[in-house]
Amino acid sequence: MSYDENNVFSKILKGEIPCELIYEDDFSIAFNDINPQAKKHILLIPKGKYISMDDFSEKASQNELISFFRAIGVVARKFDLDKTGYRILANHGPDSHQEVPHFHVHILGGNSLGPLIAR
Ligand code: AMP
Repeated sequence: MSYDENNVFSKILKGEIPCELIYEDDFSIAFNDINPQAKKHILLIPKGKYISMDDFSEKASQNELISFFRAIGVVARKFDLDKTGYRILANHGPDSHQEVPHFHVHILGGNSLGPLIAR
């Protein structure tokens, strides 16, 4: 599977569609999810063209990997989620129902999140 340049997060990165940007560094950006599943629902995405966690973990450089995982904490602390708790979630492939084929981590918090997986 090759990277789809027309996916919605690629368009956000190219400035073709807007987002509520809340964080940016050399390797990633974060913005609010358009359909929040918690009081705070943030998406952190790499600027590089990676389809999913599987692709990112296999092909990203050390700098991209380190920076991305540091950014999760930076973003969470920016909204005090480190104090009350948060969950990170990344979908890969059909069983996970990944909708957008550009790697992203959901950062969810701001309220009690309930069970890990809804059945
Ligand atoms: P996933 O199922 O892990 O691929 O999640 C994709 C997420 O992207 C969903 O939570 C959507 O609500 C969110 N989303 C889709 N389009 C946009 C957009 N234009 N701006 C912000 N979030 C979006």
